[in-house]
Amino acid sequence: MRAEMRIDLKAIAHNISMIKERTSSPVMAVVKADAYGHGLVEVSKTAIEAGATQLGVALLEEALTLRAHGITSPVLAWLTPPGSDFSSAIKQGIEIAIPSMAIFNEVSDAAKKLDTRARVHIEVDTGMTRGGFLDEWKTLLKADFSNLEVVGIFSHFARADEPGQSQNSLQRAAFLSAIADLKAIGITNLVRHLSNSAATLIDKDSLFDLVRVGIALYGLTPDIHNLGTSLSLGLKPAAQLRVQLHLVKKVPAHSPVGYGATESTTADTYLGVVAAGYADGIPRIAHNAGVFVNGQRAPIIGRVSMDQFVVDLGANSQVKSGDWVTVFGPGLHGEYTADDWADASQSINYEIVTRIGPRVPRIYEPHVY
Ligand SMILES: *Cc1c(COP(=O)(O)O)cnc(C)c1O
Repeated sequence: MRAEMRIDLKAIAHNISMIKERTSSPVMAVVKADAYGHGLVEVSKTAIEAGATQLGVALLEEALTLRAHGITSPVLAWLTPPGSDFSSAIKQGIEIAIPSMAIFNEVSDAAKKLDTRARVHIEVDTGMTRGGFLDEWKTLLKADFSNLEVVGIFSHFARADEPGQSQNSLQRAAFLSAIADLKAIGITNLVRHLSNSAATLIDKDSLFDLVRVGIALYGLTPDIHNLGTSLSLGLKPAAQLRVQLHLVKKVPAHSPVGYGATESTTADTYLGVVAAGYADGIPRIAHNAGVFVNGQRAPIIGRVSMDQFVVDLGANSQVKSGDWVTVFGPGLHGEYTADDWADASQSINYEIVTRIGPRVPRIYEPHVY
């Protein structure tokens, strides 16, 4: 096994408790995309044990996987294009987001065929201009809801990680107005939810009846520049990516390294070949990141390849072929963090952890805190 992503489930539980301390609203743990790369089933079980009351996913397949693993908590799925298997979803008691009349009609028809009512959350576009009702809102207000049990209404912030940004208050106002429209047609007692992690951490006015927490669950900051580091927020990053050195070799100064010879050694040095590449989710454009080994940082040199990349271990390195290095971790011991890798590749910590591929096994146990 040349690579592993170690997931500290105690850190996940800590992050849930920390969020629960900050808000009186129930917490939905957002576990889409294999729990942001951390492992759907294990993270979901941990989050529920730690006090999350429900789970949020994008795809119906993700929701059905949870059910197949015996997870019976409420689950909401919000990215279910027309033609999705709504019938299975309804049978499994999965709650479905309704963002359009096309999906409204399909879910309604599926429920009717099953002689039941589907549990749904109306998704309203309050200004992000992505998911949710916008142009069809008036049509929805005249629709026949007899096959649907509307349990919730929700929307999503575009700029929750920018404190004081006026778009947030505009979105909140549009959300309240949509709630009032539903009330006017007799749809009341809804679970209202608007906040993602960033809003949950900084916007006390938008907590409503449920918060949908993704990135903070994994111990990562929603925005390092505006909200501070994960550790400064009291979060514990749960993932640590460790990879073996395929080999270590001594190399003279001025040796060009990797495809395109984009960089060369500046002095005689030891180079380490790290056995993971962009096929595993290491960003190809990353530079100014690297690995941590033997208490030291070793920066990337040259381009990341599909299965490997090269790091400069320095002229005095004692590191050997086969040794393990930390690509990213919580950052407590000097290792690079997911935020460092994000910075090094014009991305965000979300993308760094989520893209770690299926060739990298997830290992659940170690506790680094
Ligand atoms: C992904 C997602 C979230 C979680 O966002 P974080 O920033 O990770 O907390 C919440 N709501 C919706 C609709 C999402 O798609």
